[in-house]
Amino acid sequence: QTFEGLGICDQLVVACDKLGWKNPSKIQLEAIPHALEGKDLIGLAQTGSGKTGAFALPILQALLDSPQAFFACVMSPTRELAIQIAEQFEALGSEIGVKCAVLVGGIDMQQQAINLAKRPHIIVCTPGRLMDHLTNTKGFSLRTLKYLVLDEADRLLNEEFEKSLDEILSVIPRERRTYLFSATMTKKVRKLQRACLRNPVKIEA
Ligand code: AMP
Repeated sequence: QTFEGLGICDQLVVACDKLGWKNPSKIQLEAIPHALEGKDLIGLAQTGSGKTGAFALPILQALLDSPQAFFACVMSPTRELAIQIAEQFEALGSEIGVKCAVLVGGIDMQQQAINLAKRPHIIVCTPGRLMDHLTNTKGFSLRTLKYLVLDEADRLLNEEFEKSLDEILSVIPRERRTYLFSATMTKKVRKLQRACLRNPVKIEA
């Protein structure tokens, strides 16, 4: 199977090629066709499975169809993971001029606010820092968001993040696609799934 065969467009296939991605990984094979059909996804997958490509490629393809700022938001439990995810979005989106912003703690809010003013397509963030910007950065909102990704959802559901996550979910559009990825399926993840996803397709790496 090839990325082309899954329905991925030429510009993105070229970007995959440049990254040395010849064939889709198992999770990509399973996720991409459903995602391109517009389904919500729940993926059981670990880091290393290629899960980032599994959600980034369909989001970039949809962005190409209807380009707009603040198109997708990816929630990550750690700063390091957020940075890696943004790097993959930028590499995969290199042929289509995608703009990303990373909103994580430990980095100057002001610099991040400047990046937000450039109206990025993709936001990759930790829940706490995203909430800080939604509260404090003038003119920034996620009212036009089309895609939400909850990555490593089991790790997002800790005491520190749960409150921010609730608040974020209350201020983003209900009309959106949602992809939830988790290494384990816990009670809390199932609860989050019921609150956030609509008729999701379940896939496994
Ligand atoms: P991830 O699980 O998304 O963190 O990806 C793990 C690593 O696999 C990253 O370094 C990716 O660049 C790489 N990768 C993702 N998809 C593919 C693919 N289809 N072929 C080869 N490498 C890939």
